[in-house]
Amino acid sequence: MNRIPLKGGKDVQNHSDRFRLVRYASYFIGFLLFYSPAALVLRFFSGLDGKHLIGNLCDSLNLRMGVGGLLSIDRWQAMDWTLGQVSIFVVMAVALILGPLFCGWLCAAGAFTEFVGRLVPDRWKIDVAGKVDAGAVRYGFLAGYLSLPFFGTGIGCSFCNFRVLEYIGLGVGSGFLPALTSTYIVVTLLWLVAGGMFMKGGRGWCVFLCPVGGIQNAMHAIGARLPFTAKMRYRPENCRSCGNCVEVCPMRAIAPAADGDWQTSGGPGVRISLNTCIACAQCSAACPHGALGYGFGPLAKPASATLPAREAARS
Ligand code: SF4
Ligand code: SF4
Repeated sequence: MNRIPLKGGKDVQNHSDRFRLVRYASYFIGFLLFYSPAALVLRFFSGLDGKHLIGNLCDSLNLRMGVGGLLSIDRWQAMDWTLGQVSIFVVMAVALILGPLFCGWLCAAGAFTEFVGRLVPDRWKIDVAGKVDAGAVRYGFLAGYLSLPFFGTGIGCSFCNFRVLEYIGLGVGSGFLPALTSTYIVVTLLWLVAGGMFMKGGRGWCVFLCPVGGIQNAMHAIGARLPFTAKMRYRPENCRSCGNCVEVCPMRAIAPAADGDWQTSGGPGVRISLNTCIACAQCSAACPHGALGYGFGPLAKPASATLPAREAARS
C-alpha cells in the first residue's frame, strides 16, 4: 500500500495512518448502511414507509430524483412521496450546518476509489490541487445533471457510480456482467481507473462529477461562512507550511495560500476550498502543529497564545 511520507516525525505519520484506518472503518459502516446488498438504513425506512421500497442509494440521495418528483403533477395530485425522495433534503440540511459529512465519513463509493488509488504510486498520478477550478467544473456538471428531469430523460441513471459499486457489491453471480452496458463501462473507467487509480487522492469522480457530493458542497460553501456552523477551521499562526495537509487531502481541496484565489479559510499558509472539502479531517490528523481542526465557529480560528499539546511536547 502506497504510504504518504509526512514531515513531523513517526508519531505524526502513525497518527495519520491510524486516522485513515478509522475513516475506512467508518466508510465500511456506510457501505453496510446505505448500499446493496445490506442497505440497512434504506431497508429500515422502506419498512416505515410501508408502500414504497427504496431500491438503492442513488434513488434515495440523488437530488435529480427529488427534482423529478417535484416536477410531477401526478405526484402532487396524489401527494405520493417516498421517504427516499425527501432524504436528500435532510442530507442537504446536514451539509449546511455540519458540512458534507456523508461524503467525508459514509460514502463507500468515494472511499473505494480512494482506497484503490493507494495501490498506485503517486508519481504515476495527475494532481489537480491548485491547478484546476474544481468548483466550476463540478457545479457546471451538477447544473446540467439537475436539468435532466426538465427534459423528461432518465439518462442520469447511466452515469451513476453508486450503482456500479452496488453491482460490484452484489457480485458477478447476481447480474453484474449483464448489467455492464457501455455507459457503465465508461463510468467504471472514469470513476475507478481515471479518477481513482490515476488521480492523486483517488477521488477524481468525487471532485468533478458526483452530483450527491456537488449538492452537499454547494450547501457547505454557503453554510461554512456562517459563524455558528461546523467546518474545517484553520489557525494560521500555528501553521509552519510543512505541506503535510496538502499531501494527504484526498479531495485535493487544500493548497498553499500562494497558489491563488481559492475560497479561503483565511491567513497565510494554506487555503481550503469550500467547494471540494468533505470535512474528512485527514489534514487535521496529519498536521503536526494543530493548525487545522473540525469544529463550530468562524473559518479561521482566532490567534491563540499557546500551541497545542503535540507541538508543545516537540518544542
Ligand atoms: S481539506 Fe482536509 S477535511 Fe477537507 S477534504 Fe481535504 S483532508 Fe479532508
Ligand atoms: S496546516 Fe499544518 S499540515 Fe498544513 S502546512 Fe500548515 S502546519 Fe503543515
